[in-house]
Formats: sequence, structure tokens, C-alpha cells
Amino acid sequence: NRHMKLAEYRNKRDQERTPEPFGKDLPERPGPTRSGAFVVHLHDATRRHWDLRLEASGVLLSFAVPRGPSLDPAEKRLAVRTEDHPIEYLEFEAVIPEGSYGGGPMILWDRGRVKYLERPAEEALERGKVDFELEGIKLRGRFALVRMKGDKDEWLLFKKGD
Ligand code: MN
Repeated sequence: NRHMKLAEYRNKRDQERTPEPFGKDLPERPGPTRSGAFVVHLHDATRRHWDLRLEASGVLLSFAVPRGPSLDPAEKRLAVRTEDHPIEYLEFEAVIPEGSYGGGPMILWDRGRVKYLERPAEEALERGKVDFELEGIKLRGRFALVRMKGDKDEWLLFKKGD
């Protein structure tokens, strides 16, 4: 899986320039992951978007959601998978300097617990369908991420009826 482990995350960033965490040397824990923490950042980068981050295997699976998550089951939102982020990102909030990767303010928009339904995160991700339940402040209840066809890592994020 090209996103697992933090090499891609580190390669994109200059540790001298960004306040972002770099993670420990071996932060990954093997799955299967059935629950963990989640966070949503509102990220005012070149294009404003929301970043949904779900804990799995000791890192944060990350999806950029241009229009943000919706609580309306009829609203399916594009979610582009991005590089895994270190677990320290659960606490992260800062202004990333302009000119750096992802430059702009990154604020916590929601946080809480995620529980993977049906199957563990790793297996669900592989199959292209992740069913999960969020227990956050803004986001609560069952959601799904479904991978779209094609070689881009594009998924649809939507609320499921409870
Ligand atoms: Mn982002």
C-alpha cells in the first residue's frame, strides 16, 4: 500500500520549515484495527478543504474532502486519499507557512472516536469500502467511504442512515 508508513509524508515536508509533527521512527503498529481516534481538520490551503483522518495501524489514514463531510445521507462527498499522517497529528493545529507543502491554517474541526464496522480498517481499505461509526462532536453515527473506479485514490464519503 503506497500510503502506509510515513515515508511519503516526510518526503513532502521540510522539517526545518513546517511546524508539523514528523512522527517517531517506528510509529506504525500492525493491524487489525477495529477502533481508534479520529480527527477532522479544516485546512485553509490554496484550496480550502476538510481533512478526515482515521487511526489505523498506528498512523492516520487521511482523506481530503473539498466540500467537507455532510450529515445528509443523500450527499456523497468526494474524498481524495492523501498520504498517511503521524498519530501526533491528532493534536496538531497551526499555521503552516506559505510556500511549504499544504501552507495555510490547519484547525481542528472535529475529533473523537472511530469504530470500524463489518471488518477491520486495513481489510476494509483494501476492499475499497470502509464502514465506520464516528463519535465526535459534529460528526456522529455511521458513515462509509467507497473507492471509485480508476487509478486515482478517489473515494466517496457519505453518511449512512442510523
Ligand atoms: Mn489538507
